[in-house]
Amino acid sequence: MQAKNSSIRVLPEEIVARIAAGEVVERPASVVKELVENAIDAGASEIRVECVEGGKRLIRVTDNGSGIRSAEVALAFAHHATSKLRTTDDLAEIRTLGFRGEALASIAAVAQVACLTRHVEETSGTLLRLEHGRIAHESRIGRAPGTTMTVEHLFANVPARLKFLKATQTERGHIDAMITRYALAYPHIRFALLHDGRLTFQSSGNGSVRDVLVEVYGAEMAAQMAAVEGEHEGIRVWGFAALPPLDHANRSRITLFVNGRPVQDTKLSHAVIQAYHTLLPPGRYPIAVIMVQVPPSEVDVNVHPAKAEVRFRDPDAVFGTVQRAVRKALIAQMQPAPIAIQAPPLSRGESAQEPTPATPVAPSRFAPLASQPTLTGSAAWERIGIPKQVQRPPEQTSAPAAAQPETAALPALRVLGQLAQTYILAEGPEGLYLIDQHAAHERILWERLMAQRELGAVASQALLDPAVVTLLPNAARLIEAHLPLLSDLGFEIEPFGNNTFLVRRAPAIMIQDDISAAMREIVADLESGESLLRRDLEARVLRRVCKRMAIKAGRVLSYAEMQALVRDLEACESPRTCPHGRPTMIHLGLAQLEKAFGRLG
Ligand code: ADP
Ligand code: MG
Repeated sequence: MQAKNSSIRVLPEEIVARIAAGEVVERPASVVKELVENAIDAGASEIRVECVEGGKRLIRVTDNGSGIRSAEVALAFAHHATSKLRTTDDLAEIRTLGFRGEALASIAAVAQVACLTRHVEETSGTLLRLEHGRIAHESRIGRAPGTTMTVEHLFANVPARLKFLKATQTERGHIDAMITRYALAYPHIRFALLHDGRLTFQSSGNGSVRDVLVEVYGAEMAAQMAAVEGEHEGIRVWGFAALPPLDHANRSRITLFVNGRPVQDTKLSHAVIQAYHTLLPPGRYPIAVIMVQVPPSEVDVNVHPAKAEVRFRDPDAVFGTVQRAVRKALIAQMQPAPIAIQAPPLSRGESAQEPTPATPVAPSRFAPLASQPTLTGSAAWERIGIPKQVQRPPEQTSAPAAAQPETAALPALRVLGQLAQTYILAEGPEGLYLIDQHAAHERILWERLMAQRELGAVASQALLDPAVVTLLPNAARLIEAHLPLLSDLGFEIEPFGNNTFLVRRAPAIMIQDDISAAMREIVADLESGESLLRRDLEARVLRRVCKRMAIKAGRVLSYAEMQALVRDLEACESPRTCPHGRPTMIHLGLAQLEKAFGRLG
């Protein structure tokens, strides 16, 4: 569908500039981002951002960085004008946030811009005004070294864009998010953000990320975030990750930086989400600020005009390092305090000065230690069809207990009784615990099965009478396709023709289950999990098994049974959530009780 006089013409420069600008400048927050990045590249230790009407009316960024030489101010607004890149080789090792030399030109093409700057080595400054990309005014003027960029009436000359700007509140939110991100990634820089003349955010610039976290999220939330640290083959990961149950309804609170650059990377966020596997309920997402540092040659930042995407030379290594570092931080804080057992002797070559990490990344508890005595009254469990627990080896206890906050670890509990045939009441040093017997047992079974799976296959047991299961054709194909996976999970299934199967063995804990009913549920899991990775699919089937086999609510438990359950829960790596991420317990602290009874004050 071409217009009548549609001969091919090269577009006028002004239109080209506006089209190009659209790639860099999407909304006020993108202007803020580019200006702040320039200030950071200029070595500023203080950056002040002022916005009027969510930046739609005015954005002003002031820094105390190097400033721009007066001879170069006009040039800075030309397309592809940059001081940060000289040769193609530089492009392979970018160490600055900017490098395209496009931001100022793009912003100037779609707004009115004033630049007031003074280079550190010059005695006077320059004021340059641009209207729709053309220089309208230039003069010498006094000021302290640094730069102030003022951007007014964004998109006034691009009606198509102007239409898409959102309510002031929304644009403001984008700017807030942008500034808090940079404040976290650059704790040495003092940031101030003002909206319509009012200071809304400030960071101290004292270099502590923890302090910025408090400034961004408040002291209460910051206290519930675990420090993340990790390094692997030149990939360094650090930051903070919220401890469950602190979480968020979507992924927007997963903030990622690669080499000081905020990035949106679905796979990298997924690595963080994965680290929370089974620790958060479905549909809930982590809150985390994760910085990744890789050698500049290992990452390509020149993928996206707004530089929001990056490409890694070895993505799996980066994702793996992120996932392990976050997981390690979470487990270290959430794990129950180990029972006092002496730390194992240092192995040869291990320096005494170097403390063992707070928790082993892949807990070595999965090593079989048949000689360990059983901690629990397993006879009681056998009575209700629960085999005795997998024992944790002493390595598990090498984690320094002191490093773990009292609040995260599960203390030794004393069972008081059962409530509504559903909850176990237990007393700890810190008050009352209400434990959901079903959720808690799910967690225990889950960790037991996962430990077995980690060692090879899930412990399996032959059924006295093999179960004969007939399925619909689709379901039958699905089972056939997953026979190896099911075999690793302890099922021995023999196709019998005509969509019928003989289940000869099942995971040992399912020995008393209705195997036909279980198979039907598992088929449904396989069906809805078709897009999952094998590992995730396995986890889903095992969760199903745990759910089926966990003692139900409404079941009366003896004192010994409750005690055994609580002991097993204490021994769990993540005792506070069930494998689906729901809480296993509610804790009523003594202080809370005293307050409720009016005993305080
Ligand atoms: P880039 O950042 O990709 O180089 P920009 O268009 O953002 O491109 O900026 C062009 C040039 O202007 C920069 O390379 C830098 O030399 C100069 N510049 C921009 N902002 C500042 C600032 N706040 N302080 C000092 N120099 C600046
Ligand atoms: Mg720039």
